[in-house]
Amino acid sequence: MKRIWRERDPNYSYLVFDGVENCKEALAEILEGKLHNCFIEMSACPGSCANGPVMEKYKKSPVSAAMAINKYAGKEDFVVSQPDKQELHKNMQIIPTKAAIPDEEEITKILHRMGKTRPEQELNCGSCGYNTCREKAIAIYQGKADISMCLPFLKDKAESFSDTIISNTPNAIIALNENLEIQQINKAALKLMNIGRASDVMGEQVIRILDPGVFMEVMETGRAVHDERCYLTEYDKYVEQTVLYDREYHVIICLMRDVTNEEKAKEHKEDVSRTTADIADKVVENQMRIVQEIASLLGETAAETKVALMKLKESIADE
Ligand code: SF4
Repeated sequence: MKRIWRERDPNYSYLVFDGVENCKEALAEILEGKLHNCFIEMSACPGSCANGPVMEKYKKSPVSAAMAINKYAGKEDFVVSQPDKQELHKNMQIIPTKAAIPDEEEITKILHRMGKTRPEQELNCGSCGYNTCREKAIAIYQGKADISMCLPFLKDKAESFSDTIISNTPNAIIALNENLEIQQINKAALKLMNIGRASDVMGEQVIRILDPGVFMEVMETGRAVHDERCYLTEYDKYVEQTVLYDREYHVIICLMRDVTNEEKAKEHKEDVSRTTADIADKVVENQMRIVQEIASLLGETAAETKVALMKLKESIADE
């Protein structure tokens, strides 16, 4: 390495490109022979090294990072070590790609597996790193990409998964907004409250189907209610209820487990015990009464015998 002063050649333009797309366009123009006498610095990361992948952890914006660099570098040029020109020269061999290109039928099949069965589902959002869904499908075919690397696909999958759970759980689930209007109600909740269709109550105030007291309390205090047993008078049902308030998403969630059979069985058992105890009390009472009656009869007989014997004794003594 030898040290030289950085000097600009007035016959050259000094250009900087950042971001993959800008770099690709610059390279395309160079290939087309449109750019001459340029010194170009290209960085794949938007914002160059001032916004490289590691910068995320320092949570600095590219602007403040660039300002920090300017401050550090100062206004004057300074000595920068440079490699020998020979060291900068390198011939690159073109590496031919042997990746097979799928035909239309194969691409359509992969798109279907990605949940894209209609053209409008091809969002081409680029969040997977490919410009279009079709490019991504080709990459999957070539083994370069995984089918799950698609944010909308994962979101749809998660939503459909949670929808399946909500629809099939035996527990009643109701979601309310902060105005206590019903936003979602599942099949189990409709059954519990004898409601024909979800559309009959969607958007309605919860007071139409349930006492809103517990929801207001949970929202006011921010304290959730867990597994609280209560009786729904209007439906003659016992439930074990959990009420949660999600402040971030402004939603109140109510989960109810129907414990009517359990409660009724418990009540029946208590009735049977009560009746048995009553019968036992009555039997004891009767027995006591009979014992008392016998005792009293025995007492009377003994007294009469005593009187008779006394009279007999007196008459014998008189003789
Ligand atoms: S993330 Fe999904 S929707 Fe977006 S371009 Fe990639 S494959 Fe298409």
